[in-house]
Amino acid sequence: MAARVLDGRALAARLREEMAPRLAAFTQRHGRPPGLGIVLAGNDPASEVYVRNKLKAAGEAAFRADLERLPATASLADILALVERLNGSDAHDGILVQSPLPKAMGAGAQQRVFDAIVPDKDVDGFGAESVGLLVQNRPKLVACTPTGVMELLVREKIPIAGRHAVVVGRSDIVGKPMALLLLHRDATVTICHSKTPNLPEICRQADILVAAVGRAGLVTSDFVKRGATVIDVGMNTVTDPAVAAALFPDGHPRLELFRKKGSVLVGDVHPGVADVAGAMTPVPGGVGPLTIAMLLMNTLRAAEARAASHARA
Ligand code: NDP
Repeated sequence: MAARVLDGRALAARLREEMAPRLAAFTQRHGRPPGLGIVLAGNDPASEVYVRNKLKAAGEAAFRADLERLPATASLADILALVERLNGSDAHDGILVQSPLPKAMGAGAQQRVFDAIVPDKDVDGFGAESVGLLVQNRPKLVACTPTGVMELLVREKIPIAGRHAVVVGRSDIVGKPMALLLLHRDATVTICHSKTPNLPEICRQADILVAAVGRAGLVTSDFVKRGATVIDVGMNTVTDPAVAAALFPDGHPRLELFRKKGSVLVGDVHPGVADVAGAMTPVPGGVGPLTIAMLLMNTLRAAEARAASHARA
């Protein structure tokens, strides 16, 4: 039986509708929309696409969004100075620094920049204070991708408390905050990574399996317990015909798309998992749209919280 599709695109649209009255009220009351400052250093092609999508979504939802560009040759001091300016800007409630930063900035630069964003504007939730608050289960602004996944699980009434959740991937931006959010909802959580032996065996114990790896089709049917909920965070552009053929059967519309375009966007979960899982997010149209919706939600929350703290001051 095919798994129920957990439609992230539809939920993202609903979240934007739900935000609209709050957004309108904020804009009317303060004479300006909530503002997001996006910092992009260099010309990484994937980052260009991500940033364009974020600007488009913010514009369509009637947020203010400003792109602040720096050349690939910019120094760490340049980017810290830019963040400092946005920290002090009254028009910007949220600040997002698109990763990765240019390699020339050096190891550790990224976290230094994330940590330089004032916590009240840290809409990506990557700064040390934001992460610390999440660890202690008194979150302020939490990373958008895992927050979107939780929103989807809750709205789709997937039981979490007391269930075994397995998160594959331990990055600071997805895997770790995902595991913490599931833990705070009383799941029993296992985190797996590249050094985990017996990965399929551990994944098969999951009631909720989250794949955040970056390996096309890594999670195959033998990783999945029948009826489990499978969340596919991965976004991988496949250009190798052999990989595409291993993912999609002959005649599949996605394979046809690949043959026409020479590439196809796929997740970390093999499409064949739909025969075993109880519910599953598609790629595209699953976690990706939710990430952007949660970025807008975090910006609105940040704007409301800043306005409330100014009113109290
Ligand atoms: P990272 O590369 O930072 O982390 C990948 C994680 O996967 C690491 O913890 C790594 O382990 C683990 N891993 C790698 N190979 C294996 C393997 N063979 N078996 C088990 N674990 C493995 O990636 P991100 O967390 O940033 O992103 C993960 C995926 O999610 C990517 O495809 C990315 O594009 C996508 N993404 C999607 C978003 C969305 O909005 N849909 C947003 C953000 C990311 P180790 O730590 O040991 O190296």
